[in-house]
Amino acid sequence: MPTLAEARRGIVRTCRRLYERGLIAGQDGNVSVRLGRDRVLVTPAGMSKADVTSRDLVEVPLHGKPRATRESGVKRAPSSELAVHLAIYRGRPDVGAVVHAHPPAATGFAVAGERLPENVLPELVYSVGPVAMVPFAAPGSQALADSFDAWLVGHDAWLMANHGAVTAGATLLVAHQRMESLEHAARIVVAARALGRVVPFRPADSQPDQ
Ligand SMILES: [Zn+2]
Repeated sequence: MPTLAEARRGIVRTCRRLYERGLIAGQDGNVSVRLGRDRVLVTPAGMSKADVTSRDLVEVPLHGKPRATRESGVKRAPSSELAVHLAIYRGRPDVGAVVHAHPPAATGFAVAGERLPENVLPELVYSVGPVAMVPFAAPGSQALADSFDAWLVGHDAWLMANHGAVTAGATLLVAHQRMESLEHAARIVVAARALGRVVPFRPADSQPDQ
């Protein structure tokens, strides 16, 4: 479990990387880290993640109603997608961090209502795992968070229909890498389709690069 200072640094670094790689735009996306048994540190609502500093992050309880926090004279409300993050932490005690972004190619699959094909890229199979498609519900709604319930076990990556992607991991590093790998795989599948053929591999044929 990271310290508060480590979690703050990690979230700010992850926000920058998501922005620099074009996985979010405007005020898109949110990042959180589990701090202890019943606390979570999450990005604020209403800010470009490129501009988020450690002082903008909001600490919220895992259960119960979050309150806006005031630090250094700045009052911040937690991310509007906090409910999705909390649903994942509550249902998956092994998860230490959650990343939500709108990566263009992966979100393209979410808009098309199409799951990413399995067994086409070892990295997708071994590093990201199966990617669930969570049915559409309004962004920021409790209904969206509730719709994750059926897909929590056995998945560390989710496409939210007509919205974006969510990844989780034991650490923020892993959750963030899964988001990058998910988007990279989606781009490769799109490129393969442009070439006219997507050929699956058999898992026994290949081991992941490490
Ligand atoms: Zn979103």
